[in-house]
Amino acid sequence: MNLTFLGATQTVTGSKFLLENKDVRVLIDCGLFQGMKELRLRNWEGPPVDPASVDMIILTHAHIDHTGYLPRFVAQGFKGPVYATPATVDLARILLPDAGHLQEEEARYRNKHQLSKHKPALPLYTVENAVAALELLQPVKYGQVVALSSTLGFELMPAGHILGSSFVRVREGGPPAEKTVLFTGDIGRYDQPIIRPSGEGPS
Ligand SMILES: [Zn+2]
Repeated sequence: MNLTFLGATQTVTGSKFLLENKDVRVLIDCGLFQGMKELRLRNWEGPPVDPASVDMIILTHAHIDHTGYLPRFVAQGFKGPVYATPATVDLARILLPDAGHLQEEEARYRNKHQLSKHKPALPLYTVENAVAALELLQPVKYGQVVALSSTLGFELMPAGHILGSSFVRVREGGPPAEKTVLFTGDIGRYDQPIIRPSGEGPS
């Protein structure tokens, strides 16, 4: 297995990790860079990996810094399934079109007040792009083992961060697995009334 860090490295947003082996390429998270302008500009660079070459995406949770690049990635050619817990899918159905709406609003504002050197200023993606990306979402329950290829599989485990948040445990080979990689996404907190803490069994 080969792992490449494409985001959330030397910064906390833009979470994207490319995991590949001889027969499959998987992107863990597809997050938007947020915060300072120099970070946000990274969303406008070419995609960090050819979207059409990625077979599938697994999302750890719905926060935009883990999912908000997905509409652009789909618009740029990604066509595979996007796996996430049912709650993450439900939240993404609200958050991603809303993010597209905000992108469109910002472009409109910049054009109206001539605040951009680009004429016209364009949105990073639109509501329509976001709705198209939602078509690819496939819910996966905690603890459900999903085969990604003959050699690679994964399951989601509670991360205790927001509703539906998960660790992604990827296994290669086996059974028993010869190699395991655990992506934590964002972890915790403890003692929340409606969310199991990280590391507990399927909820
Ligand atoms: Zn988060």
